[in-house]
Amino acid sequence: MRVLITGAGGFLGSHLTDRFLAEGYEVVGVDNFITGSRKNLAHLESEPRFSLVEHDVSRPLHMGSKLDGVLHFASPASPVDYLEYPIQTLKVGGLGTHNTLGIARAHGARYLLASTSEVYGDPEVHPQPEDYWGHVNPVGPRGVYDEAKRYAEAMTMAYHRTHAVDTRIVRIFNTYGPRMRPADGRVVSNFIVQGLRGESMTVYGDGSQTRSFCYVDDEVDGIFRLFKSSRVLPTNIGNPDEFSIRQLAEFVMEETGSTAPLRNLPLPDDDPKVRKPDIRIAREVLGWSPTVDLREGLRRTIPHFHKLVDGEDARSRTLGEDHSDDSASAAATVT
Ligand code: NAD
Ligand code: UDP
Repeated sequence: MRVLITGAGGFLGSHLTDRFLAEGYEVVGVDNFITGSRKNLAHLESEPRFSLVEHDVSRPLHMGSKLDGVLHFASPASPVDYLEYPIQTLKVGGLGTHNTLGIARAHGARYLLASTSEVYGDPEVHPQPEDYWGHVNPVGPRGVYDEAKRYAEAMTMAYHRTHAVDTRIVRIFNTYGPRMRPADGRVVSNFIVQGLRGESMTVYGDGSQTRSFCYVDDEVDGIFRLFKSSRVLPTNIGNPDEFSIRQLAEFVMEETGSTAPLRNLPLPDDDPKVRKPDIRIAREVLGWSPTVDLREGLRRTIPHFHKLVDGEDARSRTLGEDHSDDSASAAATVT
């Protein structure tokens, strides 16, 4: 069995690659490293069942050898990243989803789209079940990500209904763990890096907004089970334990030993006030529920950042070469 994973050089894509390899699959990873890093795949250098293609999936890609699965994980995912790359984010959710659905169709392969809890926007229903349509501001700064993913879901369902592609859609809720980029701007990585440096943690707003954090191994297990299942409609995969951002800061202070006072900064536009997945479908259909609580997950994650903060490449944000969004379209063919 052979699968294509886009965004394989990123945080989730690299863990997913490891899981598919561990399950006996061959994996072709595709990434343009706009927000990912080759370091996330360095341990696979001598793995004969893994190959890597450097390519922007918003441009056409032809895959020669037979594929059984396509998992589309390429997209900037941190709010800081998608605000820095708004057009690339819209393109990879739109054109990238179209291109990868085309590959799945051509190969008769199963397709899994990485969607997000952001499709619920700033929710008026709490917790969020899959049949909630959401509350998104299409023209706010976060709209580039939220609407790209909503479009991607619609395109995935259209390929299922029109071309009978065997599709899956996972709505991923805030996931954290080793291999997150220290400077990617998301709250768990920010707080851990700040805690390890003895700096004040930057709490946006008054810190009363909530999130529900899922450890990466749990998330990847849920995604793998969804891929193997027959469920076509969107499925929430996340940890329903809900914390305020201030509580998270207190936990990370305790786990890193930091005593620096918290620093309040303005709340970004349209920042959702609450977020918590309803995971009844994942429990019932996939037999999945998370096993790693936030404390334990932080203890597993902090050592990864320790090494990086000691090595001080933590501030580097620029990892790729050409991130322009308007250069001439170049197709790639992979045999
Ligand atoms: P990440 O930034 O670490 O990884 C994304 C990867 O996609 C990077 O390696 C990046 O270089 C690559 N990429 C982006 N645009 C590309 C393009 N046009 N062509 C090829 N490669 C491209 O982020 P992540 O947290 O690993 O997120 C992975 C996926 O999961 C994304 O689709 C994201 O929307 C989704 N997701 C993640 C979370 C989370 O909490 N981590 C939550 C919801 C959804
Ligand atoms: N946040 C914060 N300090 C930071 C980074 C983020 O208080 O240094 C807040 C952010 O405003 C949001 C929550 O933490 O309310 C989660 O932010 P993140 O960027 O991790 O992901 P989001 O869930 O917003 O996509």
